[in-house]
Amino acid sequence: MIVSNKYFQPQQETMPLEELQKLQSEKLVKQVRYVYDNVKYYRDLMDEKGVTPDDIKSIDDLHKLPFVKKDDLREAYPYGLLATDLKNCVRIHSTSGTTGKRVVAFYTQNDVDMWEDCCARALVAAGGTPDDVCQVCYGYGLFTGGAGLHGGSHRLGSLTLPMSSGNTDRQIQFMMDLNSTILCCTPSYAAYIGETLKEQGYKPEDNKLRIGIFGAEPWTEEMRRDIEKNLGIKAYDIYGLTELSGPGVAFECEEQRGMHINEDHFIAEIIDPNTGEVLPEGTKGELVFTSLDKEAFPLLRYRTRDICVLSREKCSCGRTFVRMAKPMGRSDDMMIIRGVNVFPSQIEAVLLNNGYAPNYQIIVDRINNTDTFDINVEMKEEDFSDIPVGITNKEKALQSAMKAMLGINPKIHLLAPKSIERSEGKAVRIIDKRKRLGINT
Ligand code: ADP
Ligand code: ZN
Repeated sequence: MIVSNKYFQPQQETMPLEELQKLQSEKLVKQVRYVYDNVKYYRDLMDEKGVTPDDIKSIDDLHKLPFVKKDDLREAYPYGLLATDLKNCVRIHSTSGTTGKRVVAFYTQNDVDMWEDCCARALVAAGGTPDDVCQVCYGYGLFTGGAGLHGGSHRLGSLTLPMSSGNTDRQIQFMMDLNSTILCCTPSYAAYIGETLKEQGYKPEDNKLRIGIFGAEPWTEEMRRDIEKNLGIKAYDIYGLTELSGPGVAFECEEQRGMHINEDHFIAEIIDPNTGEVLPEGTKGELVFTSLDKEAFPLLRYRTRDICVLSREKCSCGRTFVRMAKPMGRSDDMMIIRGVNVFPSQIEAVLLNNGYAPNYQIIVDRINNTDTFDINVEMKEEDFSDIPVGITNKEKALQSAMKAMLGINPKIHLLAPKSIERSEGKAVRIIDKRKRLGINT
């Protein structure tokens, strides 16, 4: 057994690939049988596709299973995908509803334990120890962010500060008074906390924070550097979704080149979102997950709509789990504007590379059969002036930088500092008014 404070569960996290795949195959066979026997919704889907549990003998047979989509989860709401008696469940959470009707997920005690282990792995991979003070300012409640990191921090034995999101002045007061060393929240809230600290006259070295665990929404490398500078920390990405448990499905290690997926609990595939074809490693596509250990709410080949790439390249941290690149955003976030694909993350990268703060909003509409594309961007306090010509020149410069990145010209509107609402949870970046026209964007 490997003894180390580098991993929370070294045996699983560094398991040789061959052994890991054997374990996945054994678990998959059991999970498929369990789901088929206990969930009518799945049984019908599998029967429709002509697949029986006997057809699944190893992970090589995964592709035979039907996909499950978010719409299936919505259709089966609330109990349709539950695989065990409700009396065996101890918890319910729900998605944030970022892209539509919320989905509810159920957990047995074993499901909660597995999830919390995953979050503890993430904390340890970022350098967390039982000596840390872990300030959790993801929202508590139905959202999985708060409960997940809270559980992970407990499991690790860190001193947990269950702040939930919001009340930024109090966040800062407790961070200072109670010497928080780890901060867990969405990257947009981390940016806001950093901004508020600065406004209150604190320098990055005035706080005791050393690690940030930020996720639940897409964020760019540029945003990472900005947050690290403002808070004086090293910032780590964490990924997850309620349907599978919550945060901690994948996490960054010190190498910070993609997030290791907890493959002893989840199998990941990348597919072509249009054809459903499984794509080879290294190809960009939609991330699909199959759970291996879940009792209450197991999922087979669940289409996340998150677009990313997987890599099996050896990682210097010693973990053998496959790594996923930062998701570029969901396929739902991709806007098609005048026929061109645009992701908010591309816009964020241009803004930060050009010295702007990550406070922006994208407004798309269709007027006289043509797409309009506007970006509201806040100016930094130090760059702000009310001399119109200076602003116009800056807008033009930013417009050409956007054109170079996106291939189309947005209209840039530079706004006074503080005019765009800050986010304490997941930031809302896109206002697509074309939806009122029933255009499926
Ligand atoms: P909702 O889908 O309603 O937002 P969740 O709160 O469960 O519900 O959020 C899960 C989704 O959040 C993921 O599918 C993904 O799109 C996004 N997400 C989570 N973590 C990250 C991350 N680190 N980077 C990018 N996107 C993320
Ligand atoms: Zn690693």
